[in-house]
Amino acid sequence: MAEQKNLVMKRDLKRVISEHALEGAREHGFEVLGWLTGFFTEDTVYICDAVPCTNYKRQSRYSAESDPAEEAKLAVMFPRNVGIVGLYHSHPFKMDFETGEFRKLYGVSELFHSGTDDAMLKSRSSKMKNYVSIVTDVENIQCYMMQRKKPKKIKENLVNSINFKDHMRQINSKVHLKYEQSFDKKPNLAKMIREIEEKLISDLDRELLDDDVNIQQGPLGNVLRILPFEKSTGDSSEGKGNFFRITPNGGELTIKAIMNLTPTIYVPKGKIDLEQAAESMKNEIADYIVYLTWNDMNYSEFEKHLSPEIKEQEIHLGRINTKFDETSGMPKKVYTRPKRRMTLKKK
Ligand SMILES: [Zn+2]
Repeated sequence: MAEQKNLVMKRDLKRVISEHALEGAREHGFEVLGWLTGFFTEDTVYICDAVPCTNYKRQSRYSAESDPAEEAKLAVMFPRNVGIVGLYHSHPFKMDFETGEFRKLYGVSELFHSGTDDAMLKSRSSKMKNYVSIVTDVENIQCYMMQRKKPKKIKENLVNSINFKDHMRQINSKVHLKYEQSFDKKPNLAKMIREIEEKLISDLDRELLDDDVNIQQGPLGNVLRILPFEKSTGDSSEGKGNFFRITPNGGELTIKAIMNLTPTIYVPKGKIDLEQAAESMKNEIADYIVYLTWNDMNYSEFEKHLSPEIKEQEIHLGRINTKFDETSGMPKKVYTRPKRRMTLKKK
């Protein structure tokens, strides 16, 4: 059976993309690029927003490459199964380099997918099968997707609005993760934290192989229950917040990690595939752990406070919530910094 792919896109994005391209062409005659954000269902990609790149690694009239950090930063803003679905770039050859005016190019179309563009689409599609590549000549756009292993032009279906909630179902979860390990004081704190972080994630991996996962319809929607991580144990201070509690003990440091996470994922409407949902949730939780552990954290700075008078040091990690962003019409993750990054208890 031939695979039928559909591309649905908000009408005003066509203007957003070509205006961005025109701006770049007028300013310096260079190619510009940006990201397409939205979501995928079974056979359809929905494009809800276009986000211009602002930091380029390199940029010329015939190519552009973004600073990878900018894409990474954008990608982490979205919950799993929502986010970057493609890339757009311009072929600004219609603009006269000197005058910034339009010029006529006889018999040449700027709306094409070059060999480089094909290679990019192939490589991106290997990780995300319905990845989209849009090219603009600063006036019109053309869309490409992989079809039967080849980059193919695909007709976009322009709509006035896309209602995210019509297509995607929200699944929430709630997990309490705890892990404790003692270290020889010698290695640095960041290294120890790395070990703890890896341990938390591998625990999660192991537990989710079990049958202890189910989906329940709750008053607030679907809840994916991961039974081994449902109940918080230990003292009440461990039942909320996310932190590392460090206790020096002679020549040793004991580090206890506590994470109370409320991750949210989205899956296409229709019957929920439990295994897939659990896998998505697991990956989402791992993302939370990595983000909270490393975003805006300076462990060598925290380490300086670990003097012999210290009984306990707590490093607070902040939290992540998912909120619906009305502007883009998609859910986004919001990170909240803790009120205090660190608390110290002296002996
Ligand atoms: Zn190109």
